Amino acid sequence: MNHDTERALDKAAAILAGARSVIAFTGAGISAESGVPTFRGAGGIWERYDERHLELGYFRAHPELAWPTIRDIFYAFASPDGERPPFQPNDAHRVLAAWEQQGILNFTVTQNIDGLHAAAGSRRLSEFHGTTATLSCMRCGARVPSARELLETLPPRCPCGGIYKPDFTFFGEGIDPAASSSAYDAARKADVCLVIGSTGLVYPAATIPRVVAGGGGTVIEVNPEPSTFTDDITGVFLPMGASEALVALDRRLRGTATP
Ligand SMILES: [Zn+2]
Repeated sequence: MNHDTERALDKAAAILAGARSVIAFTGAGISAESGVPTFRGAGGIWERYDERHLELGYFRAHPELAWPTIRDIFYAFASPDGERPPFQPNDAHRVLAAWEQQGILNFTVTQNIDGLHAAAGSRRLSEFHGTTATLSCMRCGARVPSARELLETLPPRCPCGGIYKPDFTFFGEGIDPAASSSAYDAARKADVCLVIGSTGLVYPAATIPRVVAGGGGTVIEVNPEPSTFTDDITGVFLPMGASEALVALDRRLRGTATP
């Protein structure tokens, strides 16, 4: 780690330690370190699958066609040929959950639908784009965990006969009002926003750090490369991976930084 990065980490840790209310805003970069595949770009999921299968209108009209794609992408652990275990939280998720317990972090807003913040123990959480962890019946509204048995026969059906839809936001679907209002409430109260692994290209989610900055708060950004936030609202830029940065900040906050 070079001297500039060390100094930026020291500065970020001091800002976190002196903050009144801190929120974290996380994107695909934090989950990539758990092996969760990315959607866009070279090797992204849309090079292999039809994006329409995640459009709400298409899904409602053709759930039997969309569901095999959805299972392949999000529930490979339940696919007959894909024996991949569910993804696990990494050090970055764990540090954020611990900071919430210790009162260092007030709230987490994530764009990710993989449920890894909740799995790591974060409770003050807005899953802005929903979650793969549960399914809801499109007929009666019943909500159930995304259990393997349920996904063996597609499309998965509720006891009422309705078809289940994953509880993440499809293309053409609005943001869940509770997820949205809790995120904006937390952003308006925050004086520090820690952006982790988000390039800020997806709206309206990308407005969250801007709300904090607009209210006079400080943005600390953890991204390996500069993003749309960097020159615009970022106060301290940490050019690092999520786990490396969070572990380094955690050491400083606990006063055990090694020189
Ligand atoms: Zn039902």
